[in-house]
Order: sequence, then structure tokens, then C-alpha cells
Amino acid sequence: MNIVALQRIEKILKKAGLRKTRQRVDILKVLANAKQPLTAEQIARKLRRAKPNKVTIYRTLESFVEAALVHRAYLGDRTWHYESGDHCTELQCHPHFTCTKCGSTRCMLDSTVGMVKGLEQGFVVHRQQVRLEGLCPRCA
Ligand SMILES: [Zn+2]
Ligand SMILES: [Zn+2]
Ligand SMILES: [Zn+2]
Repeated sequence: MNIVALQRIEKILKKAGLRKTRQRVDILKVLANAKQPLTAEQIARKLRRAKPNKVTIYRTLESFVEAALVHRAYLGDRTWHYESGDHCTELQCHPHFTCTKCGSTRCMLDSTVGMVKGLEQGFVVHRQQVRLEGLCPRCA
């Protein structure tokens, strides 16, 4: 990893009040380079050189979620996928498009969706996520 990226990750951890550990830096690095949300399992595979413990990875991811550095994306397949919160606004994640034919998921970083309107009184939205299904350009 280049020095600028490392400094950026150190800053992010500090701001979130999290101690810098190799595990945390490694996971943030994987997420920073990911083109789509990853499961804890996929992250573990990318870190295989460091022989990570899956429970530790899971706990680290959850601590990132709590600090809002990382968002959980539900892609419709029963498993949480994790991604950096960099490309989301405070209340809304960018939409995800899952192809029903090949199963690939794409982050739609340039698409925007309006926030939900007409909620019943008393409900407070913390995060809106939109999941789109259909055909990707390759399958359409
Ligand atoms: Zn998000
Ligand atoms: Zn497809
Ligand atoms: Zn995404």
C-alpha cells in the first residue's frame, strides 16, 4: 500500500476513535480497493496471507459498522456484504444492482434515488438502501 493511502487509513481510524491494528488497516485496505460489497468470507480470502481468524474479522467489521466507516449492504442472499461508507451520504447508501441471470452485483455510484417520502409519524430513518434487480449489460 502506498504511504498516502496508509496515512488516510490512519486518519480514518483515529477519527473513529479506533486503535490502529494491522487487522483493521488490512481490512480497510481490502474494502477501499473493492469494486463491490464483500462478505466477511470474501474479505478473509483476500487476507489469506495474514491468516486471519474469521471471528476477529467479523468483530472488526462490526466495529467499523458501528463507527459508520463501513456499511452493510443487503444484496438479497441472506449474507451481509460490507463496503466502505465513502460513497454514501449520511442517510443513504448508493444503490446496488444485482443481475438475476449472472448474479453479479454492481455499485451504482452515479445513480441517485430520492429519500423515502410520506413515512408514518414517529418513524426515524437512519439509513436508506435501495437494491435493484434486473439484467446487467452483459446479460441483457
Ligand atoms: Zn453505504
Ligand atoms: Zn448479468
Ligand atoms: Zn456499493
